This record gives sequence, structure tokens and C-alpha cells, in this order.
Amino acid sequence: MWYAVRIVRAELISIGTELASGLALDTNSAWLAGELARLGVEVTRHVTVTDDRPAIAAELDRAAGSAGIVLVTGGLGPTDDDVTREALADAMGVPLRTDQASLEQVRAFFVRLGRRFAESNTRQARFPEGAAPIENPWGTAPGCRARLGEATVYCLPGVPREMKEMFRQAVAPDLRTLARGAVIVTRTLRCFGAGESTIGDQIADLMAAGRPVTVGITAAEGLISIRLITEARDETTAETLLAQDEADLRRRLGVLIYGTEDQTLASVVGDLLRQGQHTVATAESCTGGLLAKHLTDVPGSSAYLLGGLVTYSNRGKSDLLGVDPLLIERHGAVSEEVARQMAAGCRERTGADFVLSTTGIAGPGGGTPEKPVGLVYIALARDGGAEVKRYLLGSQLPRSSIRERTCATALNMLRLRLQ
Ligand code: ATP
Ligand code: MG
Repeated sequence: MWYAVRIVRAELISIGTELASGLALDTNSAWLAGELARLGVEVTRHVTVTDDRPAIAAELDRAAGSAGIVLVTGGLGPTDDDVTREALADAMGVPLRTDQASLEQVRAFFVRLGRRFAESNTRQARFPEGAAPIENPWGTAPGCRARLGEATVYCLPGVPREMKEMFRQAVAPDLRTLARGAVIVTRTLRCFGAGESTIGDQIADLMAAGRPVTVGITAAEGLISIRLITEARDETTAETLLAQDEADLRRRLGVLIYGTEDQTLASVVGDLLRQGQHTVATAESCTGGLLAKHLTDVPGSSAYLLGGLVTYSNRGKSDLLGVDPLLIERHGAVSEEVARQMAAGCRERTGADFVLSTTGIAGPGGGTPEKPVGLVYIALARDGGAEVKRYLLGSQLPRSSIRERTCATALNMLRLRLQ
């Protein structure tokens, strides 16, 4: 949930030939768009431009003509291919001037690191006339803020860590003061256990246009997110509107909702295990450690995760988990019986209160009519026995999806048991 203020539209420009060519991924724009949304700024366009001075100048000119805020990242380094400063000066129709304070900061940065100051670094203290420098506490390249036509342009370095810090320190406070006075509040409900269309059908009336709360659904690897957004004159009014819709959604969807905001299945399961002072371990075949990876993505998970075994081969299943080789021969490694013995064997060996095991056909090869790609058995062993479930996740899915969905399904099994 976040509070924000609706202001103007923003366009994002990322600079770099390596980005345009696909050699590196533009993660800056994705991050910035998220931060701007939190501030209530609507991002209407992302553009990537190569290290080409006229092309960058033209793009700046165009963006400033259509949005009130233009955010540029990259191309502020000391080398000849870093031309964002020059392009901005061209677009503004002004010369570059050296900013003495910035020059001192760049020098001081080199002294602090005990590095030699190369003459080329003086370039980094040059800005278009009229632009205000933005200090970079983490690197050499200062950024700048400038007026271009009706728009405010912010230039930040490409290095994500520096860019983020400078955005938080210099850009976000600016944007907050551009406020017009309406509050936007959002909430995200996280669901698992039914398809996007099934959930969509259950809440179709809430998703209708023209309601005070905008309700939307997105899906990724079987995880469904429901986003609620509302805009009101003050926080209390907005919160009340959201709370009504949230209560309604919770009544309709029940245990399909596993969390809110940034919660994950693994973090929710972790909270439940911690509350009940329970421990868990994993015995993985088709997920190859991915389940343990999800569990350990949660900081502090050593409080409840004892460990995990990756037993990918038949021999591994027998040697490490004590699965009967005859059982594997008779039913195959992907079977209810093997899933059950994997979980039981792991529970015996680790002493965990709960064990999740996975065995399945992740594809793309290895499927048969009886055992197609996407067939997965998941067992949950606990005091008093093991439950095993069989899933057909879909033979058309790529290997990575089958593995991710297996993990989500396993974590959800444990969540439902613990709730
Ligand atoms: P520097 O002063 O470090 O040279 P710069 O402003 O010139 O900063 P670039 O040279 O364009 O930035 O990029 C520096 C590093 O930051 C590169 O490793 C690049 O991959 C990364 N980077 C640049 N732009 C982006 C982006 N949009 N998303 C993610 N990483 C980026
Ligand atoms: Mg550079």
C-alpha cells in the first residue's frame, strides 16, 4: 500500500548502446516506473537510445514536448561515448559550463578511493548552462536537473545503485512538492490456487469500470495479484473505500488469498512455521533445489528450514532418502509412492516436523501418454503420515514454469495445512 499524489506525466529515457543492442537489460526504467507510481506519477513512455548525441538530443526534445517530467539514466561517465550532458545542452540550445563545486566533489571522490584523477573526469563536472548539478555520493558522475521547454529533465547515472540513491535523495522530494492534492492509495492481494479467469469471474462486478476503486488482475506462474487503486481527497476516505473492497474480496476468495503487498508464499509459510515453532525440510527431484531456494529467499529462514536434499537420480533417491529401488522400478520415479517415500525418508533423516517432496516431469522431453510433461507429485509428510497430490500443470508449459509452479503448489499445500 502506498500514498501518493497525482501530478504530471513522466517519460523515461535510458541511454546506452549496450541496452539498445540487448547486451544489457534496462532494469533502471522498471525500477523508476515503480517508484514514480508510488509517488502518483503516471509513466507514459519508456525509450532506449544508443550513445548517439543527436539521437539523444532529439529524443529529449520530443519527450519534453509531451511530458512534464523526463527522467534520463546513463551516459554521464567520463568516456567519449558518454554524451548525455552534451545532448541535453544541444536540446536546450546552451553551451556546457564547468561547475566548480561538482569538480571538487569528483576530485574528492578519487582522493577518498586513493585513485588517480584522470583529466577525462573533468568532463563529469560539465553541465548545460542553467542546469543544477545533483550530487552523487556513491560514484564519480554527478547528475543534473534542468528545464527544457515546459518540462523538468533529470539526468542520473546508469549504474543502478547510484541512480537509485540519487533518485531518492534529489528527485523524489522534488516530485512530492509538485503535488496537486489528491491522494492515491493502492493495495495488492496475492492469491494462489485458482486460475486468473476463475478468480476474474468471481469478482467481475468489482472490476467493472467507473467504480470508485479500480480493481485489476495480473497473473504470473500461477500466482494471481489483485490490485486495488483508489484516489480521494484525503487518506481516510481512500482507506475506507479500499477497506470495503478488500473485505468483499476476502469474503469471496477466502483461502485463495495468501498475502498482501510484497508477501510471497514462502514468506507466509515462513511466518506460519515460526508462529507454530515448526520446522520444515525438502526432498526435491524435478525442482532441483528451487523449493529450498524459495524458502531461503526469506531472511531468517534458518529458524525453521532444517535443510533440503536434491535427489535427482533414482540412485540419489534410494541412497540419500531410502526410497525402495523396487518401488521405483515398479511405479517409476514420478509416482505417488515415490513422492511419499521421499518425504517420509527425508522426515526420518532430518527430524523436521514437515517435509515437502517433489517429483515430476519438467520437460521438454521425457513425457509419455500416461505420464505427460507437467505431471507432478507433491508429498507433504508430517506427524501421522503423508498426503500426496497429483497435478497436471500443463504439457505446453516451459520447463522453468513447471518447476516454478511445482514450488508454488508445494508451498501452498503447506500453507493450507498450517492455516
Ligand atoms: P558511469 O559514470 O559509471 O560511466 P554512466 O552514467 O556513464 O555511469 P553507463 O556508462 O551508461 O552509465 O552505464 C554504467 C553501468 O550501468 C553499466 O554497467 C550499465 O550496464 C549499467 N546501466 C546503465 N544503464 C542501465 C539501465 N538502464 N538499467 C540497468 N543498468 C544500466
Ligand atoms: Mg559510462
